[in-house]
Amino acid sequence: MKAIRVHETGAPDALQLEEVPDLHPDPGQVVVRVHAAGVNPVDVYIRSGIYPVKPPLPYTPGMDAAGVVEETGERVSRVKVGDRVYVAGTLSGAYAEQALCDESQVHKLPDSITFAQGAGVNVPYATAYRALFYRAHALPGETVLVHGASGGVGIAAVQIARAHGLTVIGTGGTEEGLRLVREQGAHYVFDHHQPDYLKEIMALAGGRGVDLVLEMLANVNLANDLGVLAQKGRVVVIGSRGSIEIDPRAMMGRDSGILGMSLMNASPEELSGIHAALVAGLENGTLRPVVGQEIPLQDAARAHRAVMEPGAYGKIVLVP
Ligand code: NAP
Repeated sequence: MKAIRVHETGAPDALQLEEVPDLHPDPGQVVVRVHAAGVNPVDVYIRSGIYPVKPPLPYTPGMDAAGVVEETGERVSRVKVGDRVYVAGTLSGAYAEQALCDESQVHKLPDSITFAQGAGVNVPYATAYRALFYRAHALPGETVLVHGASGGVGIAAVQIARAHGLTVIGTGGTEEGLRLVREQGAHYVFDHHQPDYLKEIMALAGGRGVDLVLEMLANVNLANDLGVLAQKGRVVVIGSRGSIEIDPRAMMGRDSGILGMSLMNASPEELSGIHAALVAGLENGTLRPVVGQEIPLQDAARAHRAVMEPGAYGKIVLVP
């Protein structure tokens, strides 16, 4: 089978398509024929060598995919050959024609969701879900600012929060992105490049502020986020690409909190609960992953450049 391999971390051209041996499952494992693989910013950080988690070289990147179960090992009971599935992490890497997974990493993909959409489920939706409910303990009736709503995690957060009964404010950096965020369920949208958008959000929230902020670029926004929080408000730091100075007094007066969130810290029990909720949402139509670009597997380097560019529009997926 063909797979993208990285022999040395570094520039996007480190991603090379190669012929590798076919995969076969041990007991408790599943081989999935990959129809689409999701591209996440973390794949870029790992490939470039700056991420704390460093896979042994050479490796095949990617944590997200969707496809069909091709072979199951002994004692596998959750899925059978021929099932449509999405993959939440793999043992072998997702940027490939086949992915080897532990049985716990594969989840049923409803017929209404395409493989390209399925490749956009795991990291984005599990991150948004864990941030909202396991970290911020979001409640129906609260207001959430999804700060960076036009990309993978943002669109997922908008759909999940809307379905849960929150008032959703989403930001994007382009007209197309803002239109998408509104279509996907945000009650209000704002351009995070406009000078006064945070003042407008405060005015919208009646001067009270928002209960939650899901923050995709904390190194730019965290100090300002603290100023738009309501009493007992919470910011969840999901993405950050540098450092920032904040005024802790802005938190003191509001009893507010800053919560970190890494999906990598999710326990097996949490993951099993999160994916049960995501499968239910995919089945009932409240969760509808948005695919912005489909790129051939051999052009993985192009996909890695694209995912770091401004003007996000849903997910970028690779198609073998
Ligand atoms: P993505 O698809 O590239 O989306 C990035 C989002 O950030 C877009 O909505 C983008 O909007 C927005 N953005 C750009 N400039 C912004 C600004 N000044 N203020 C607010 N938002 C801004 O990436 P993603 O997959 O959604 O991931 C988002 C971030 O979370 C990344 O940094 C990623 O590494 C991180 N992440 C963390 C975890 C975790 O476990 N903690 C998991 C998944 C992702 P425009 O492009 O329209 O300007």
